[in-house]
Amino acid sequence: MIWHPYSQHKTMAPPIPIVSATGALLIDENKQQYIDAISSWWVNVHGHAHPYIAKKIYEQAAKLEHVIFTGFTHEPAVLLAERLLKILPGDLSRVFYSDNGSTAVEVAIKMAIQYWKQYPRAGKRRRILALRHAYHGDTFGAMSVSQQGIFTLPFKEYLFEVTFIGSPTKSNAEEIRAMVEQQGDEIACFIYEPLLQAAGGMRIYEPGPLEELLRFIKSKQIICIADEVMTGFYRTGKFFASQYMETKPDIICLSKGLTGGSMALGVTATAGFLFDAFLSDDRAKTFFHGHSFTANPIACSAALASLDLFDDQKCVSAIQNIVARNQSFIQSLQSVRMGIAAKNLRQLGTIIAFEMNAGTDGYLNNISPEVTARALQRGIYLRPLGNTVYFMPPYCITGEQLDSVYDFLNSLAING
Ligand code: PMP
Repeated sequence: MIWHPYSQHKTMAPPIPIVSATGALLIDENKQQYIDAISSWWVNVHGHAHPYIAKKIYEQAAKLEHVIFTGFTHEPAVLLAERLLKILPGDLSRVFYSDNGSTAVEVAIKMAIQYWKQYPRAGKRRRILALRHAYHGDTFGAMSVSQQGIFTLPFKEYLFEVTFIGSPTKSNAEEIRAMVEQQGDEIACFIYEPLLQAAGGMRIYEPGPLEELLRFIKSKQIICIADEVMTGFYRTGKFFASQYMETKPDIICLSKGLTGGSMALGVTATAGFLFDAFLSDDRAKTFFHGHSFTANPIACSAALASLDLFDDQKCVSAIQNIVARNQSFIQSLQSVRMGIAAKNLRQLGTIIAFEMNAGTDGYLNNISPEVTARALQRGIYLRPLGNTVYFMPPYCITGEQLDSVYDFLNSLAING
């Protein structure tokens, strides 16, 4: 009856019917509880069915559930834009709403392309620069700027051409510079997941080389698009990963944790100079993009409620606690030398990752469903990316729940 995403229906285990959820716990129809150790595909930040978010959603639904967002506006969208622009890094002044991470990216790319078409001194800027191992979503534009591989293979000849560079390190800086220098005046924009390439295998890279690259790229007037769909809302330890760098992006894409993980909403926040290039008496220069559920008032209210919760020091302390506990967990694992079944132990903020030392590295490694099944038996939900096991909890996870996840990850990493 139902076709599930990223699911091979021929071989997968039957999906588990979840009937309710509270805090970090998912509860199935047999009242079995599972710690949501990947925050339901990285969206949940304050815990499930949060009473405050639920209340705000209900109040908004009873007042104004939806209205077309061209020709009309509404308070939740205005308040959310004001609040986001205050906290987002850099000099951003406009918020464009959509309804998921892929479309937030799609919008950013379209804005950058159209900007160069209408820019008064427009040159030949049509190239897009992206990072190898990137993942920016499943729509065609987002797939084009993502790592070409198993997810994009069937669509290969339908994707547009993109220039891919390695994620910046101290050793490849010169090579990347030379390449950008060569194509510099043809490149319209550069899209990157700051510091963490998540779906590409939880690959962490350093802020220093990214800072250098951003500075260089901006000196070439290339539009910088930070895809913070996953890294936003404290996942990396700071509100936004772009705060680790001095050089700020011209566009930031948000979704996932934006509504606390409760409603579908996307944001593409842009610098004023981009918006200004679309102002014209010529109506053909309009940004012709919009979705039926653009700026859905219930979703905007959920996002405002989520920001209220981030204002509470208790939430920030909980995040700091997870970061500290993750650090000591990784240190304790690193000190184990014998019989380790895991490699590349790493951590960035609230996220831990390692590879299982079994078979070929990659998404199709069959250890993933095996780890999921074993974790479920222990009351934990994990969904490794191939042999990359990772932990990304809702911030309300309790000390006891953390202990049981660490305990499982520890035995997995040491004994296999
Ligand atoms: N960008 C990044 C960095 C992501 O991690 C994801 C989702 N995993 C997306 C974009 C796409 O978001 P969505 O699944 O909401 O379309």
